[in-house]
Amino acid sequence: MTNLTILGSTGSIGVSTLDVVGRSPQAYRVYALVAGSNVDVLARQILEFKPKVAVLATAEARLHLISRLEELSLPKKHWPELAFGPQARVDAAIAPEVDFVLSAIVGVAGLEATYEAICAGKRLGLANKEVLVASGQLVVDAAKRQATELIPVDSEHNGAHQCLRAGKRAEVARLILTASGGPFRETSKEQMASVTPAQALNHPTWKMGQRITIDSATMMNKGFEVIEACWLFDFSADEVDIVVHPQSTVHAMVEYLDGSVIAQISATDMRMPIQYALTYPAREPAPVPRLDWTQRRSWTFDAPDFDRFPALRLAYSALRAGGSSTCTLNAADEIAVEAFLSEDISFPAIADVVEETLQRVPNRKAASVAEVLEIDAKSRLAARQIVKEKAAVGRSPRTSADALVRLPG
Ligand code: NAD
Ligand code: MG
Repeated sequence: MTNLTILGSTGSIGVSTLDVVGRSPQAYRVYALVAGSNVDVLARQILEFKPKVAVLATAEARLHLISRLEELSLPKKHWPELAFGPQARVDAAIAPEVDFVLSAIVGVAGLEATYEAICAGKRLGLANKEVLVASGQLVVDAAKRQATELIPVDSEHNGAHQCLRAGKRAEVARLILTASGGPFRETSKEQMASVTPAQALNHPTWKMGQRITIDSATMMNKGFEVIEACWLFDFSADEVDIVVHPQSTVHAMVEYLDGSVIAQISATDMRMPIQYALTYPAREPAPVPRLDWTQRRSWTFDAPDFDRFPALRLAYSALRAGGSSTCTLNAADEIAVEAFLSEDISFPAIADVVEETLQRVPNRKAASVAEVLEIDAKSRLAARQIVKEKAAVGRSPRTSADALVRLPG
């Protein structure tokens, strides 16, 4: 019996995780469900999975959950302990009862609990790539210290994890991550200037949370994934390539020294990598239809377009710069994506905001998670300022950008 804490249980990955878990009640018990503010989904999950602990982001959300559980007439003796806030997220991840933590909160809100779970030696399924983008060195060092394995849930990294089992790490020449190319794979630069949030949210192959869906449209997601891969598998930026594969069925490929390429292929369904992470190194039948090889299918592979998708270039250069650059990359992108979704900036301006934020926020080394969070906060502040300037320019063609603000280091 594996005792689980699910960080981000109400999101796309969290819901898929509980689907896998719910099919094997003999194998899993849910210790804690951790979410942001989606009280309705969390209340239903509590009814079904009867966790010991439920954590929300705020006191207000916790009060909403209490009224929801009262409406659902759940007898008080079946109520979990109800908590909220960052420390409660950490406590839920490090509790001695917990064997496995599935990290699927979106953004740096999931960093502390994920990091502390690793420091407490928990086995970890990692969906939250922003944890490694913002804080790769600290996270990987902690995992090494604790001899904890981080099992990737991100489909490409999960695929790479499987391909890497085919040979010795020293015999690997490079890693190839596939990218769907998103909804604008064939959209011209001119057309991209006027795409709407609804168009950008319409991903062709995956149904995911809003942030990652927009990141897939800009391809920043693939940039994050290159960074994630370098930390997970100890590659340099030059050893990780991206190939556009719109069918999203080949998830990753590993090229060995002799030129042989091992690919991981499976249905486009996140329950596959989630289950792999939960059962590794064992394999179990998965609740996902097998690929039907009697049907004719065509797969295509193309080089990515760094000109139409400047986010890719920004991610590679932040990775090469090292230090806190990738933390700033992630923070700025989160703010820029929010601003695009609320129609304050255009789609191409997302990459502009990220690029300008990287120029304004000094790169430095972070020695602790607290320092990472401090750099994250500074980067957000700078990105918000840049968004404001761009929104002002957008509203009035005569207004020039406000004076550049250079933040202290
Ligand atoms: P989502 O937006 O659907 O869900 C995010 C979850 O995080 C929700 O449960 C939400 O309540 C919770 N959350 C948000 N802010 C919080 C806070 N302050 N405190 C506590 N909980 C908070 O996102 P998703 O698509 O499930 O993605 C989750 C993570 O997995 C992301 O890092 C994403 O990049 C990664 N990922 C997702 C997919 C996918 O198919 N959805 C694939 C690969 C990687
Ligand atoms: Mg992915």
